[in-house]
Amino acid sequence: MSARIGRLRGLCLRHSSWFVVQQHDQPALEQRQFRLAVKDNIATVSPNSEEETPLTTTCGSNFLANYRSPFEATIVTQLRSRGALLVGKTNLDEFGMGSHSVHTAFGPVAQEGEHEQQAVKHSAGGSSGGSAVAVATGEADLALGTDTGGSVRLPAAYTGVVGFKPSYGMLSRYGVVPYANSLDTVGLLAKEVRPIAELILGGADKVTRGLWAEHDPLDPTSLSHGARRRCASQRDCYTGPLPKDPYPLKNLKFGLPLEYNITELSPSIRHSWSAAAAKLQSLGARLVPVSLPSTRHALSAYYVIAPAEASSNLAKYDGIRYGTRFTPPTESDAAVSKGPEGQEEEEEGILYARARTAGFGDEVKRRILLGAYTLSSAAMDNYFLKAQKVRRLVRRDFNRVFALPNPLLDKPERFELSELPETVGLEDKWGPTEVDFLLCPTAPTTAPRLDEVLSEEEKDPVSAYMNDVFTVPASLAGLPAISVPMRVEDKEGAGMAGLQLIGQYWDDARLLAVAETVA
Ligand code: GLN
Repeated sequence: MSARIGRLRGLCLRHSSWFVVQQHDQPALEQRQFRLAVKDNIATVSPNSEEETPLTTTCGSNFLANYRSPFEATIVTQLRSRGALLVGKTNLDEFGMGSHSVHTAFGPVAQEGEHEQQAVKHSAGGSSGGSAVAVATGEADLALGTDTGGSVRLPAAYTGVVGFKPSYGMLSRYGVVPYANSLDTVGLLAKEVRPIAELILGGADKVTRGLWAEHDPLDPTSLSHGARRRCASQRDCYTGPLPKDPYPLKNLKFGLPLEYNITELSPSIRHSWSAAAAKLQSLGARLVPVSLPSTRHALSAYYVIAPAEASSNLAKYDGIRYGTRFTPPTESDAAVSKGPEGQEEEEEGILYARARTAGFGDEVKRRILLGAYTLSSAAMDNYFLKAQKVRRLVRRDFNRVFALPNPLLDKPERFELSELPETVGLEDKWGPTEVDFLLCPTAPTTAPRLDEVLSEEEKDPVSAYMNDVFTVPASLAGLPAISVPMRVEDKEGAGMAGLQLIGQYWDDARLLAVAETVA
């Protein structure tokens, strides 16, 4: 196989719709091998053999534009041992922060289409937009992404592929550049559920071990073997491998969360959502409306917690010990320093400021400022601590509606009236509903046009946060969720959106099996 690694900047040269940071020649595949694209915030060493030039891991940032990791992420090694051949590193929103893959040092990701014989570019979603496009265009059989608040599910929905976010702590994050540690997960994208399910659950041949069973001692958040066993045995639920025949939906109960039926939901998506529910009913499933009252606060809580963790994570990029060093201080900078005492720190400070000004893009700077503010002593109680409280309520809402108990809890949670945020009234339904899965759209709209996204970002940079409204609740609760393609018809014609299924913690196996039937 050729060792050429083409470095592509701006719009991709070879395939205008497939947008990658680095692209490798397409390999010839042997049996059981598959082509893998890897989001560029996941560390890789050489593409497919040690003689080849090591790949960079840029995180879509100027700061790491030349960074070559000395080690490989565990997930990449695990996939290589299961037959993966690396075909490229994919573009993303810088450090995973964004919903349209436009905040990147390498130029926006786009999916190309046609409307009334005109070429139109649409958003590929973010932040794993490059991975989604690599799969949608068939250049990769499987792609790795990261999902902190929806970054695998949203691009999957916009590009019409499958995107799976596992339970928090299931897949190793060793070698994945952190964005918000308490939320970060590694996710998988493919055209169908089956290849993802086979990797997670293990092949029907029982030769290949499912990734769900693999603890990684190098990742402190990776669930221990003991905890994995306890989680799997606490319920008499199915843990794989993926059955050959469609998983029966008879006797399964799906909840339709009332709070997801928001005014911003596009009518065509609402229509396809109810059509999907009707289809499940025809396959023998039961459908019930459920209430998750804290959902309405989840998005705000997420955009407090994630930037707070990001601001702390990104503090290490100083351009001195970590990240690219940008231009040394000039003489005039030196003149600012206040004499021999402290001069060194002063110069370091200038270097630090220069590096961070040049190294980070605007969205990352915005998150750092937001995070540093909400963690400051003056704002901590009102923002960060309140957001943590909302996060607990979001988790509790999910635990209340699922029939399976959350295996991480020793005893059922108690409902305390005093802990409710003021805006949640008693008119909200609080009875036990006991569903197997939740069924809802992945995003309120189909993929918006890229030109509209870019002009909206200029006017109101936080408007894009709204796209994550249906994906962040499962992230805050650490639950497994999957987006499968859902056809929609609107005035622009037929398009693709995502149908999201959310399961109880560690119910990933059943979620994947059911998603296969639903997709
Ligand atoms: N769009 C969300 C954010 O910008 C989610 C990103 C992600 O999941 N990496 O934080």
